[in-house]
Amino acid sequence: MSSSDEERRLARARLPAGLRPETLAVRSALAPSQYGENSEALFLTSAYVQPDAETSARRFANSEDFTYSRTSNPTVRALEARLAAMEGTEAAVATSSGMSAILLLCMGLLKAGDHVVCSRSVFGSTINLFAKEFGKFGVETTFVSQTDLAEWRAAIKPATKLLFAETPTNPLTEVCDIRALADMAHAAGAQLVVDNTFSTPALQRPVELGADLVMHSATKYMDGQGRVMAGALCGSSRVIRDVLGPVLRTVGMVLSPFNAWVVLKGLETLSLRMKAQSEQALAVARWLEARPEVARVYYPTLESHPQHELAMRQQNGQGGALLSFELKAATPEEARAAAFHVIDSTRVLSIATNLGDTKSIITHPATTSHGRLSEEQRQAAGISQGLMRLAVGLEHVDDICDDLLRGLSTLKN
Ligand SMILES: *Cc1c(COP(=O)(O)O)cnc(C)c1O
Repeated sequence: MSSSDEERRLARARLPAGLRPETLAVRSALAPSQYGENSEALFLTSAYVQPDAETSARRFANSEDFTYSRTSNPTVRALEARLAAMEGTEAAVATSSGMSAILLLCMGLLKAGDHVVCSRSVFGSTINLFAKEFGKFGVETTFVSQTDLAEWRAAIKPATKLLFAETPTNPLTEVCDIRALADMAHAAGAQLVVDNTFSTPALQRPVELGADLVMHSATKYMDGQGRVMAGALCGSSRVIRDVLGPVLRTVGMVLSPFNAWVVLKGLETLSLRMKAQSEQALAVARWLEARPEVARVYYPTLESHPQHELAMRQQNGQGGALLSFELKAATPEEARAAAFHVIDSTRVLSIATNLGDTKSIITHPATTSHGRLSEEQRQAAGISQGLMRLAVGLEHVDDICDDLLRGLSTLKN
């Protein structure tokens, strides 16, 4: 290949400015290789052959060059470019899971004596990671109400380095005000990190609302078909490339190229899936709200949701694909029996504890994701025995409702 061919190939791969998010989700990546593949290639290699010792020395001195796949891999790099473009950040770093993204965040930005303020309603393992694992290293975390800004403000102290929020939450879809939390963090000289797993950049871009860093479990909607584990952090070049990148390369919770490739392809259909799954979830939520057996439905697009207006403003008018609902029952024992009956009567939905799949999934939080809490802690968190979580997929919406009806219509009251 002549050098002018090579120059034309690289020039052609540079995208014009101002492209819209849907376009960036399909087009942002690295330049294609000399073979001109239209679909991004999967580079399954742990090392890279160097043309000579001098070049090898130069590339090892520059972590942006390809030498070894713990340091960088073209497929992983393509995913990072696409994620950053979609979140509207300067840079992104991919990790082996969502939890390892939070681990990287803590290792890179916290030290003994530092303090974190975190919503009490975030993902269970996130709470354990802050309170238990980093507690051991002298990092203190205060857990506060998801929705009460005064509680967040009161928890901040001089040692506070991070505010950590997730919105909407799982399973009750509680929403927090990203812009208000960002202002609060910055006034205290701290940074706001938002776990954007449930909304994805298709619905919500936290950096546009003032957040400093965005965290993802790409295992969920970004893959979108329940195949691989992956995570990511998106933010400024200064934090991602200069602070977190070197920690990742040393510690090694890197994303496998195969998983990166699966997520890269998943992102191309993310906005279509989120839109379709949000519409289906709203239809199911409205249907459930009208059922006599149902006491309450939690879903941000419903007018009955306590933060409906904030959610619609923050989430591009969409509620996401996750909802939960509570059955009417006289006692916790009856509530649990009724919930188990509805779950066991389904023949289409998956009984599992995951979300972000094209397959709809039904879960009983009180005995799975929140099973290790005491009954008192569960009640404080609003997780009753009659609560069920539904992660709505892409089956026909009438088949999802019919499947729920099998159990609802045969409940013994
Ligand atoms: C699943 C999940 C995580 C953890 O991600 P993994 O990929 O399972 O490690 C973190 N936050 C939220 C909101 C999640 O749903």
